[in-house]
Amino acid sequence: MVPLHFRHVELAAVRCGHAESSPPRPLALKVILDRLSRPIELLVLGTMFVGLPLAPLLMAALSGRLADAIEYRRSLRLAFRHVAEMYRSGATSRYVRWRASGRQPSRLAPDERIEGTCTHCGQCCTNKACVFVQFDALGRSSCRIYDTAFWRWLSCGSYPVSREDIEVYRCPSFRVIRIQPATGESRVAADAPSADHR
Ligand code: SF4
Ligand code: SF4
Repeated sequence: MVPLHFRHVELAAVRCGHAESSPPRPLALKVILDRLSRPIELLVLGTMFVGLPLAPLLMAALSGRLADAIEYRRSLRLAFRHVAEMYRSGATSRYVRWRASGRQPSRLAPDERIEGTCTHCGQCCTNKACVFVQFDALGRSSCRIYDTAFWRWLSCGSYPVSREDIEVYRCPSFRVIRIQPATGESRVAADAPSADHR
């Protein structure tokens, strides 16, 4: 059985506007993926919707929990809710834009950074609708596929990767701050203004 871990336990995170997470993408590819992020999202979600009958089996395979497949109807309901919430929150298009930018925090100015410490409210797990999120007796979220290869392929371990991420999921713990140089050191000046979600 996959051990249960809290998501973001490693994230007393600081993400800078010009942090280098991986080699930058060629500009043309970045622009193309940026523009295509919404059509790609619709294609992905359409495929997921058509493939919903297989979702319980996939859930069981990824989580290592046979009950996901045995409790077929329950898993199917959860999967439907998951896909609907992915559509509502625009998770896939944000993910595509993040990948296009070379896994760097997006839409941040060079003097902005994201700062905070996760309190495990579960909001960023697709508004608590991810089929893999669960909650303990104290209401703290954890992930059933934490640190698996699939989890690492997603943006879950890097959340929040953009200002949008924070806003869309109303994260209570992370925020965008602006740093102003002051006498040789940096200091927090003020909360940066919010941008549109898309
Ligand atoms: S929304 Fe913020 S506080 Fe809540 S689980 Fe996600 S990162 Fe943590
Ligand atoms: S896979 Fe789901 S439950 Fe796990 S961290 Fe990602 S969004 Fe949260």
